[in-house]
Amino acid sequence: VTVSEIGEFGLLERIFPRLPVSRATLVGPGDDAALVAIRGGRVVATTDMLVEGRHFRLDWSSARDIGRKAAAQNLADVAAMGGVGVALLVALALPAEVDVSWVEELYDGFHDECEPVGAGVVGGDLVRSENGITISVTALGSMRGREAVTRAGARPGDVVAVAGRIGWSAAGLAVLSRGFRTPRALVDAHRFPQVPYAAGPLAADLGATAMCDISDGLVADLRRLALASGVSIEITTETLEVTPQMRDAAQALGVDPVRWLLDGGEDHALLATFPAGVELPEPWRTIGRVVRGRGVYVNGSPSEDAGFDHFR
Ligand SMILES: [Mg+2]
Repeated sequence: VTVSEIGEFGLLERIFPRLPVSRATLVGPGDDAALVAIRGGRVVATTDMLVEGRHFRLDWSSARDIGRKAAAQNLADVAAMGGVGVALLVALALPAEVDVSWVEELYDGFHDECEPVGAGVVGGDLVRSENGITISVTALGSMRGREAVTRAGARPGDVVAVAGRIGWSAAGLAVLSRGFRTPRALVDAHRFPQVPYAAGPLAADLGATAMCDISDGLVADLRRLALASGVSIEITTETLEVTPQMRDAAQALGVDPVRWLLDGGEDHALLATFPAGVELPEPWRTIGRVVRGRGVYVNGSPSEDAGFDHFR
């Protein structure tokens, strides 16, 4: 059955029962707008779009994977402020010939990712597209009384730490790009990330001075944080983990796995700075420090230097 065969209302009837429901949902889908209860009075808001062919491929990812990923990248941005995801709005542009089951599975993916966080899908939009599938997600989150942690607060003397996987998604993408489907753990990591959501509010409680999620790559996001804070950041690669599977895959593909750690995005790990002396519990681990100056240094070399290559 295709989307055009059952029409918008038929499709909505299939979607509504699959949506994750949160206790914060006072008025859910079906009215003019949703009504969401936000504790503490401060709302974190963020939006992200996924475009077929650019952000996902239908031959590499199932609808369920794509739903999970779309939810995760938004919920990760909420966590990166120190917040907790409460509600998602999902707007979908679909070609008429898409299978209804594909759409159902997409929302099952939203359900999978939102449920453990406690977030609901409270509304959205459906439109017909002539040009592939586009998924636009807006997330609302609560600070639950915490102060938001921006990118701009890192100070010289702070330590730099990460929580979550780094380089896994990039390794999975490299594997898929060469036509392989294994190692499974890496391929799965590319299909949807495993975001350490609780590490965001935890970092805020620990007094994090700056935070962001790693969506474009460790070095790229370190640069943004350093720029926003007006500081320089030094990291060493020996503190980053190349897993045995990454090492094997890199060897098979003839590439350097450290590249995945430094440049790979989409794992949505969290990156934060903390005042020196703060004892960091799991899953936070220290990878470097904040100093005066500007730019990012990896193993002592400016990250944009060509000479940087020999550290790989
Ligand atoms: Mg982000």
